[in-house]
Amino acid sequence: MVDSVFPSYQLEQFLLDDLLLVVSKDRNLVPRTTADGLCRLLPLREGPFPTLALSTFLPPKKELIPPHEKVWSYQSERFSTAEEPKPFTVVGVPLCDLQAIWYLDQVFVDDLSYQVRRAQAFLVGMPCEAGLECRCDRRLMPIAGDLFIAEERVWALSPAGETLLKTCGCLDAEDMSLPWPEGMQEKRPEMTEELYHEAADAEFWKVEAKRCLSCGACSAVCPTCYCFDLLDKATLDGSVTRNRSWDNCFFAEHGKVAGGHDFRPGRANRLRFRMEHKFFSFGGLRGQNSCVGCGRCRKVCPVDIDLDQIAAKIVEGGGS
Ligand code: SF4
Ligand code: SF4
Repeated sequence: MVDSVFPSYQLEQFLLDDLLLVVSKDRNLVPRTTADGLCRLLPLREGPFPTLALSTFLPPKKELIPPHEKVWSYQSERFSTAEEPKPFTVVGVPLCDLQAIWYLDQVFVDDLSYQVRRAQAFLVGMPCEAGLECRCDRRLMPIAGDLFIAEERVWALSPAGETLLKTCGCLDAEDMSLPWPEGMQEKRPEMTEELYHEAADAEFWKVEAKRCLSCGACSAVCPTCYCFDLLDKATLDGSVTRNRSWDNCFFAEHGKVAGGHDFRPGRANRLRFRMEHKFFSFGGLRGQNSCVGCGRCRKVCPVDIDLDQIAAKIVEGGGS
């Protein structure tokens, strides 16, 4: 079980606004629901900081892995990397998204572009109101972040957060658990890797894949999906630019390689691949469930495909 106990300080209400002003950076991003009904991270230009976290349509990963970015360029015998981002805060991050950022921190541990952006981020978590689609689990994995603020307490999640609180006069810490929403983890099926592989030829993969539109929406909104494509653009004067863009494991081209071979032909293969990634991860993180239960994929899927329902079928042994 992951222990989410951190030093926690009493926070007098009069100090909250001062504290949030102290954590302000060049860009302060807060979740806001706009006229189209979507919740986004937007720059705070005026008005108060939020006191509650909101699940944004696109997760905070967008600030750490932009949909399109220049990685480096080479021109006139000189290499240059992308411009260094300005320091920014995100205030009002839900606990599941803090877990997702911990996961991305592990995946991109050696990735310079990610690490440069990550070093500029100050993340302030807050409690959220769990929605119908939510299935977060405090036991799943550790969380990233710097502070967590809930009513009259503030938790230091990182050395930077702790230093800042001490600077603000918060001195007497008491180790306390974070206030996770209750009962969420009970909604999740306990699928093992063995059961997953045993169900490789089950009929329901074909049934679900037939409904799937391969739109990729579920992967785009997922806080732990990170597939990307690299494209080098060379010109006749000898300059080269390497760009990186989000890719998507539901797209037909995703498993294709030079020579025309396709590692994952057909939607059933791609659905199984995503399922495997979410529940068991790959590489050094193999065995780590990376689905933080935020519910975004369930909300956006136009045909109501639900990975937990598929996992439940696997657990029940429903091979047909
Ligand atoms: S798979 Fe779905 S519920 Fe799980 S983290 Fe990704 S978007 Fe959230
Ligand atoms: S959102 Fe639904 S329909 Fe679109 S790719 Fe994902 S599972 Fe398929």
